[in-house]
Amino acid sequence: MLHNPLIPRRPESDRGWMRDAACLDEDPELFFPLTELINNPQVDHARAVCRRCAVLLHCRFWAIENGEDAGIWGATTAAQRRTIHRALLDEQGADTE
Ligand code: SF4
Repeated sequence: MLHNPLIPRRPESDRGWMRDAACLDEDPELFFPLTELINNPQVDHARAVCRRCAVLLHCRFWAIENGEDAGIWGATTAAQRRTIHRALLDEQGADTE
């Protein structure tokens, strides 16, 4: 299981952080654009909401740990999360060598 040491460890089932999500008042469709290209205005809008969210890092790493493969989570696209995931795995591999 991946974990960023900057984020306090919480059980996977603990979604309490979601209560503080900035997207609660937004249309959920905003976070699931048809394409996740960075220059897509919908992606930009969703990421702007995320950037003012108090739980951005919790959200981002929850999405990475849980393999969320669609939508904008923690101001990242699915492709960006896959890149972070691979980097964390590489880092963990380097730590055990
Ligand atoms: S970071 Fe974005 S998607 Fe995640 S809870 Fe906050 S506003 Fe919602």
